[in-house]
Amino acid sequence: DRDMALEAGRVLDRLISAGHDAYWVGGCVRDELLGRSIQDMDLTTSAEPGEVVGLFDNVIPTGIQHGTVTVVSGGYSFEVTTFRTESDYEDHRRPQDVKFVKDVREDLRRRDFTMNAMALTRDGELVDPFGGEADIRNRLIRCVGAADERFEEDALRMLRCVRFAAVFGFRIAPSTWRALLGKRHLLRFIAMERVRTEMEKIMKGPDPLRGLELLRRSALLSSTKAATPWERISAWSLDKLNELPEPQRWELLLLSGRFEPEEADVMLREWTFSNAFRIRMLRLLEWEKAAAEVPPTVSDEAELRQLWIAWLLRWGQESAADWLAVNGVLPPDFRQNAASRRVAGVLAAKGREWTDQTSIQQMKDLNITGNDLLAELNRRGGPWLGKLMEHLLLAAASGEIANEKEQLIEEAKRVTEVEEA
Ligand code: ATP
Ligand code: MG
Repeated sequence: DRDMALEAGRVLDRLISAGHDAYWVGGCVRDELLGRSIQDMDLTTSAEPGEVVGLFDNVIPTGIQHGTVTVVSGGYSFEVTTFRTESDYEDHRRPQDVKFVKDVREDLRRRDFTMNAMALTRDGELVDPFGGEADIRNRLIRCVGAADERFEEDALRMLRCVRFAAVFGFRIAPSTWRALLGKRHLLRFIAMERVRTEMEKIMKGPDPLRGLELLRRSALLSSTKAATPWERISAWSLDKLNELPEPQRWELLLLSGRFEPEEADVMLREWTFSNAFRIRMLRLLEWEKAAAEVPPTVSDEAELRQLWIAWLLRWGQESAADWLAVNGVLPPDFRQNAASRRVAGVLAAKGREWTDQTSIQQMKDLNITGNDLLAELNRRGGPWLGKLMEHLLLAAASGEIANEKEQLIEEAKRVTEVEEA
């Protein structure tokens, strides 16, 4: 983004004219060399946080104790971090304690990989003490300094390593890979939330299969809470995973691992996924479970359509679309008996059409209320009312009766009479 670069240049100018050193740094320098689009630009400076705050009108003290403030300028936000070193890593996580320094090269030394340890001057000159540019040219991920020490200091770097390899399609330098194998057990010290965030970046990327393969080969997750579920997932062949959008990729993983909804619920909570995401996953699993459990006596399309619409009302349109998409890339032998393969085949062929024909999605779309029914049937409320409403919803949604008050009342009277008889 040209405008963002111009604005960042102004921020650098302000720091430099006040007598400080200042650079673009880290991910944005790497992405520029890679020709990737740049989401945000991080800046680094010799100015101490208090000095940065004094130089700009609009500054947010984001992480001021680690030397990071956010400068808001011309509609853009830039993280400006004071040159610093880190020490006293505790429990294999990045330390809270930092020391400010005056040389950009000292700051670059604390960064994880050579490609992330470059700075760019205001005039476009690269500061590259560890050969990051050459590594990018060779599509290679390599730790700054001794890899086993760097992974020992901060175990998250191992997962970042795999993530960058998967997202950029880079190889991992042999010495870095060996160190990763030696230190993988330390990943258990990293909060699940941060593990999950990296996993999401792998799964969102262009080649999650490569990420999964690296995770399998490295057994990097084997010391974390995800270890057991992960083994189940990676036992499966997932050839077409990359063809799906991200949420459905996770759904394919869960299906492939043959997780019961209850198991997946526990696991997704442990992985700290959001409620909305977890519910989406669970609905898909419920849908598949329902499809797998259709009794062999249900044979004709009309009956399957009734079931489909009942599921649609229970789990919603998104879930229907998810099931169709994921079903389309499941391995052919995923379903273990002929009957369930046949049912899945019919659902896959017709589901889209049945979904589109269903104009009523939920109870409030029904042109009758519980109170209307109480008055018309002249009965007292009770559990029967909810059941009756469900029946009417399904009947109207499947087009058996019109969604008109009169017809709905007629149907309500018919079924209550049948029940009473
Ligand atoms: P992206 O933003 O695309 O995920 P990034 O490289 O910008 O990638 P950030 O987490 O935004 O990653 O970090 C910015 C920079 O900070 C990195 O480029 C790297 O120089 C440094 N950095 C981030 N995390 C670590 C870490 N765990 N250890 C050492 N340096 C790190
Ligand atoms: Mg970044």
